[in-house]
Amino acid sequence: MVQLKTSAELAAMKKACRISAGALKVAGEAIRPGMTTKHLDSILYDYIRSQGAKPSFLGYGGFPGTACISVNEEVIHGIPSTGRKLLEGDIVSVDVGAVIDGFHGDNAATFAVGQVSAEAQRLMDVTKESLAKGIAAAQAGARLGDIGHAVQSYVEAAGFAVVRQYVGHGVGHDLHEDPEVPNYGVPGRGLRLMPGMTIAIEPMVNAVGWDVKQLDNGWTVVTKSGSLSAHFEHTIAITEQGPVILTQP
Ligand code: MG
Repeated sequence: MVQLKTSAELAAMKKACRISAGALKVAGEAIRPGMTTKHLDSILYDYIRSQGAKPSFLGYGGFPGTACISVNEEVIHGIPSTGRKLLEGDIVSVDVGAVIDGFHGDNAATFAVGQVSAEAQRLMDVTKESLAKGIAAAQAGARLGDIGHAVQSYVEAAGFAVVRQYVGHGVGHDLHEDPEVPNYGVPGRGLRLMPGMTIAIEPMVNAVGWDVKQLDNGWTVVTKSGSLSAHFEHTIAITEQGPVILTQP
């Protein structure tokens, strides 16, 4: 069931979202060649705790990290590891959320490690812009299919592919609430968007082919083609005045 938030609940939720966005900003500033993904994760843990919040993902379904840190062909749910060093030319997706006062925030971005290839940069740029297109379509009275179509059409026009098996979601009291928010769809189809809905829109975009598979560790999702993948996410609120991005530092 979709839970509509009151304006007081939205105000409370902004705090969790601001901290989540702060963590992502900290990640972007910390990432450098040679650091392990576990080191990056511990920096994010310390930041979230310093803000009085708790990492939303830590222990969620048994997940062992503060953030999902996914490198190159890893799409989502990468596990922070002391054995995984970020290398010059990698791209790294960081997905991180924080919970405080009973509300969650959730956001993600893909970062360049040092200098990356022009194609890797284009993949990141297109994915980030596809999120902006999805958010712009998230108007009260529009439908979920309008969001998905906005993302998918932009990504496919750029020659890339949208992951189908994993989607965005409602967010608020719980990290994952109804509804599911696919990054593909048909305009005018699906649930109607109403003021008070809070959703995470999170396009996952593969350079080649939309298909993915999960590794034997039970978490990490990688592209089936082995191509690079990028991921951007914001938590937003649907309002009468239009979509509001809650995950701003
Ligand atoms: Mg999410």
